[in-house]
Amino acid sequence: MTKADQNSVSATSKPSKTLKLLGKPVAEAIRGEVAQKVSQFTQKHGRQPHLTVILVGDDPASGVYVRSKGKACEQVGMKSTTILLPSSTTETDLAGQVRALNQDQAVDGVLIQLPLPQHINAEKILNLVDPQKDVDAFTLTSSGAIFKDQALVYPCTPYGVMKMLRHYKIPVAGQNVVVIGRSQIVGKPMAMLMLKENATVTICHSKTQDLKKLTSQADIVVVAAGKKEFLGRDAFSEKTVVIDVGIHGSGTGNQICGDVKFSEVDDFVAAASPVPGGVGPLTIAVLLENTIKLAEYRCQTV
Ligand code: NAP
Repeated sequence: MTKADQNSVSATSKPSKTLKLLGKPVAEAIRGEVAQKVSQFTQKHGRQPHLTVILVGDDPASGVYVRSKGKACEQVGMKSTTILLPSSTTETDLAGQVRALNQDQAVDGVLIQLPLPQHINAEKILNLVDPQKDVDAFTLTSSGAIFKDQALVYPCTPYGVMKMLRHYKIPVAGQNVVVIGRSQIVGKPMAMLMLKENATVTICHSKTQDLKKLTSQADIVVVAAGKKEFLGRDAFSEKTVVIDVGIHGSGTGNQICGDVKFSEVDDFVAAASPVPGGVGPLTIAVLLENTIKLAEYRCQTV
């Protein structure tokens, strides 16, 4: 950890004994490595790695995410294209767009921005993405590859959590890890990644009984329940590392917060990621990393 990564405290405030797991330095390190690889790829292949994002409809939050992804690509020298489609787009037309991108040799990554409009079967569309261009690792093939430890890339947010733990030199092997949430996007791949790194993993969900008993005995707790500030100090012990994946209140006028009451765990647990400023910045950084990985992989195999 560099000095700049250390938690800053003002001269008057008492330093917290909790290590703040900030995402920015981790994301900056990832982006730096990606920029180098992008430059090498561009020199070698005479073109930039290329991410294409499909955005259907005019959901404002999705629009913000897609613009951030495009800007992040540009910053590391990657090409990014956004295909904007009206919310009236049919499933057949969208499927046609995805198939065309699969065939396009100048496209390395395909991302379908979620949520899709109600009349479109999102699962069906996500599964059409060529697994070699599946930057989100959401296809059935990618999920199977994760299960078999043969994945090309992992879903961005859980992989970002692993990068965060590595950056702050927090050991995972042999640790008791509780993952709260079993979604396809976060919880399940998170648990598989922890298992791959030799943690002993417990997966919790809405039907789990005595959740706090499990979390307070864990070394690392990854919270991805999507429940605003639903866990506080009484859910953890002083040795716990708490990673909060939840994001709430991103609308105007709302204070952004996570699934954990950060003010309660700060100065109590061993380490904790704040919201905002923790896991958030890592998702796009890993998306960039996934894109260059897939570009390199496909260029080796064609
Ligand atoms: P999701 O699909 O709604 O899944 C939530 C999971 O949490 C489900 O498995 C659910 O259990 C479980 N759960 C709900 N209430 C619970 C409770 N009281 N106790 C234990 N488990 C409970 O959500 P998601 O897509 O995984 O996202 C989770 C959170 O992460 C959200 O706040 C989301 O906004 C945030 N997120 C952040 C990023 C980022 O870039 N930082 C990226 C993705 C998601 P059941 O399966 O039994 O229903």
